Amino acid sequence: MNLQFLKKIRVIFSLIFFVSFLILFFDLSFSVQSKFSQYPLYLQFIPSLQKFLTTFSITSMGFIFIIILTLIFGRVYCSTVCPLGILQDIIIFFRKKRKRINYKFSAAWDKTRNTILIITIILLVSGISFGISLLDPYSNFGRILSNIFRPITIEINNLISFLFEKVNLYIINPLDFAGVNFFSFLFSLTIFILILFFSIKFGRLYCNSVCPVGTFLGILSKFSFFKIAVIEQNCISCGDCETVCKSNCIESETQKVDFSRCVGCFNCFDVCPSIGISYVSRYPLKSEGKSELIKNSTRRNFLKNIGIFTFGTNLVLKAQQKIEVYKESKIPVIRKTPISPPGSVSIENFTDKCTACSLCVASCPTQVLQPSFLEYGLLGIMQPRMDYIASYCNFDCVICSEVCPTGAILPQKLEKKQLIQLGKAKFVKENCVVYSQKTDCGACAEHCPTKAVEMVLDKSVNLKSPFLKEEICIGCGACEHACPTKPYKAIYVEGNEKHIFAQKPKTEKLKEKVDLKEEFPF
Ligand code: SF4
Ligand code: SF4
Repeated sequence: MNLQFLKKIRVIFSLIFFVSFLILFFDLSFSVQSKFSQYPLYLQFIPSLQKFLTTFSITSMGFIFIIILTLIFGRVYCSTVCPLGILQDIIIFFRKKRKRINYKFSAAWDKTRNTILIITIILLVSGISFGISLLDPYSNFGRILSNIFRPITIEINNLISFLFEKVNLYIINPLDFAGVNFFSFLFSLTIFILILFFSIKFGRLYCNSVCPVGTFLGILSKFSFFKIAVIEQNCISCGDCETVCKSNCIESETQKVDFSRCVGCFNCFDVCPSIGISYVSRYPLKSEGKSELIKNSTRRNFLKNIGIFTFGTNLVLKAQQKIEVYKESKIPVIRKTPISPPGSVSIENFTDKCTACSLCVASCPTQVLQPSFLEYGLLGIMQPRMDYIASYCNFDCVICSEVCPTGAILPQKLEKKQLIQLGKAKFVKENCVVYSQKTDCGACAEHCPTKAVEMVLDKSVNLKSPFLKEEICIGCGACEHACPTKPYKAIYVEGNEKHIFAQKPKTEKLKEKVDLKEEFPF
């Protein structure tokens, strides 16, 4: 049967998936991710498996669908659903435009790929997500977009906005940019260069020698119902199929196909002039038994979200500028426990489940989520943490919990999230301008959404100074971010190893005070 149409179908589906990922990671309006992320993420193998191990829900069974698909047709996942696989295909496509590539069959790197798979399984079973986060194709793709291309896009947006403003055109909003973690940037760049090099030089060798998902699905495809094989009676031995096989898994001379390495690109079907290569059943009827084959967000949302972020940041900045800080703070602030995002339950749970795909980092409208360096320890490198120097957690936002595909951040209702205590604010009296400069301030109290920081009169200085009510503090970092002291903050959040629930604030007027139009964006 002529199956040339399969390549067209593969290309259409892969483009749909790829564009979906671009939208997810490049949405500068922060309005698409929470509504749309579950669809392309549902079928991502490792995130779905991770989520299933956490939640056991139908919404996390995408990996089972992929296993069934592989047991029927082989590794079609690798060229159709996996964004890193599709990225490699795109690189190869442009490479071929410049110069024709003739692939040749090569032996499988079985030792390498099986060792990597075994190590990954051991790490997964022992709850260490570090290895998985380094090798998971979706997470690597996410980091490449989030740590390299998204920041570049924001910078270009801001440059264009700046140039337009010069000629009195205010059609593009400048975007606040909290910067990139240098280590995450370097790591993502290295992976991107490796992927570029591998795909230009060796086609899909990365998928067949490094990627643990590829190896695992390769093992399953050894038992798939259908497999791709050379049809002896049709084959005219032209060798065209071998030259277009990016996985180097067709040996035209011996008419063998190593189906465990086939990534389902269907290039071979497309070039074969004689239907000499096709899907065949691995379990044929008896009459075929002797065959050789058996051996072998809308614009409004955009403006709203941009508005929330810009308005909030401006207010914090204004609050910081209002107080003239002329004395440097003296007491170093050393946070003993990092702060994980709301919905992550505990540091342990979070670091076990997070594959550091950076989707939450790209989706967080305030940019408080930043890739970590060593804050969670060596094995937690690049997993997101709350960075209250960069920003603060928006009281009215649950986006990260809605987009996380692995269950590292569990979905939260807004009312519940508003009581999750990520940590507790701590006051360092010596650093506070009220004491060091004998001047009024109150930026922390002004921005605290639960009013856990209150200014009360301290007769010793005859000024109002911050008083903390730990039981209603949720550790959102608004106070720390707003505190104008430098280089050390006078108020900071110490993370909770395990998140707990804060008491509901009693302040009757809280609703009014947190009104976006009125005050700070909570
Ligand atoms: S809940 Fe907080 S950390 Fe999560 S996306 Fe919203 S602002 Fe960012
Ligand atoms: S917490 Fe963030 S980086 Fe980690 S898996 Fe979830 S979305 Fe990805």
